[in-house]
Amino acid sequence: MALTTQELKIAKQSYPVLKYSNFLSKHLTLPVYAALYQKKTSNGVTLDTCIQTGVDTPRLQFGLVVGDEECYTLFKDVLYPVIKEYHENFDPAVQMHADDAAQLNNDVIVKPFDEKYVISVRIRAGRSISGFPFAPCCTRAERRKVEEIVVGALKNIDREFTGSYRTIDSMSPAEIDKLTKEHILFYNVTEFSYRNDGIARDWPDARGFMVNERNDFIVWVNEEDHVRIISMQSGNDLQSCFENWKKGEKQLEDAIKNAGYKYAWSKNLGHLCTCPSNIGTSMRCSVHVRLPNMSVHPKLDEIIKKLGVAKRGNLGEHRSSTDQELLDISNVKRLGISEVGIVQQVYQSVTRLIDMERQLEAGKLLDDVLK
Ligand code: ADP
Ligand code: MG
Repeated sequence: MALTTQELKIAKQSYPVLKYSNFLSKHLTLPVYAALYQKKTSNGVTLDTCIQTGVDTPRLQFGLVVGDEECYTLFKDVLYPVIKEYHENFDPAVQMHADDAAQLNNDVIVKPFDEKYVISVRIRAGRSISGFPFAPCCTRAERRKVEEIVVGALKNIDREFTGSYRTIDSMSPAEIDKLTKEHILFYNVTEFSYRNDGIARDWPDARGFMVNERNDFIVWVNEEDHVRIISMQSGNDLQSCFENWKKGEKQLEDAIKNAGYKYAWSKNLGHLCTCPSNIGTSMRCSVHVRLPNMSVHPKLDEIIKKLGVAKRGNLGEHRSSTDQELLDISNVKRLGISEVGIVQQVYQSVTRLIDMERQLEAGKLLDDVLK
């Protein structure tokens, strides 16, 4: 329904100054804000809470976080354009794909990479427990309850995919340092508290992780999302990393369901998470690949963009790299693509980057592959 001039005038009194260039400043026009700013989800989440980060800080690409699952419908006038821009071709009218049934029937999805270049492979996805506000908006009691649910579920899955759960506050700084350097544990989220997104509140209360005995299946609790499910291996076998992820992920979901809970999920948006970049499959498939020549090539960023992938440093997002030759290459899109599709896209992109590295090693130019 169109707003009256008077309604717009009143909304303007609260309309934020959008000084940073991000998806929020592009899509939160005054009429959109005016239609939404007085609404509240059943958990009491408002649009102003979700956007505060993008108003106050240059929160990179997005400029907003999502306070709970209901926000995805209540605030869709601003969220859908943002989602559409990030997950290219997202169409809210289209139902989220069903998970691929073929993926665990010994089908070869991808072959091993050339081990000369690929150091390690990792697949992760975020999950939220339906009914509980997300990290930016949950109370201490809700955060602790989420931890209790996930830790309880972890006790009821096969030993292959579980291990003892450890809270951050039970570990020494030296242990924390060691585990983060091994890429097993997440970073201290208070490092990002300058973003004003609410995620760092009460740190380290109710945060922890579990890793299995084989050291290849990890669950993070209450980092950016309620749950992060990770499969990680050294070496070049992305297929086995994916199969491992799929099996562990299924077991955890079943255990959560058996405990009477379910994940926040919608037909058209898939899994719902704190950051709109992480909805859909929520999957980030990342390959650590050593490319001494490509990593300093002036066209690297352009090539990465053309391949539809993203580049991070060896220590992950928002951290400066300590090894310039080692790139973390992962998919950008997580919605409107299947899990298998993501694994294949990353495989193909990394394989192309390795081909280019070989060309440079042989003293050739890259012009042909840029077309
Ligand atoms: P995410 O948001 O997917 O968890 P981050 O960029 O925050 O990703 O990285 C989390 C941790 O995972 C970091 O320590 C990062 O170096 C590590 N990591 C990501 N991909 C790989 C990989 N292929 N091999 C080893 N470690 C990885
Ligand atoms: Mg992260």
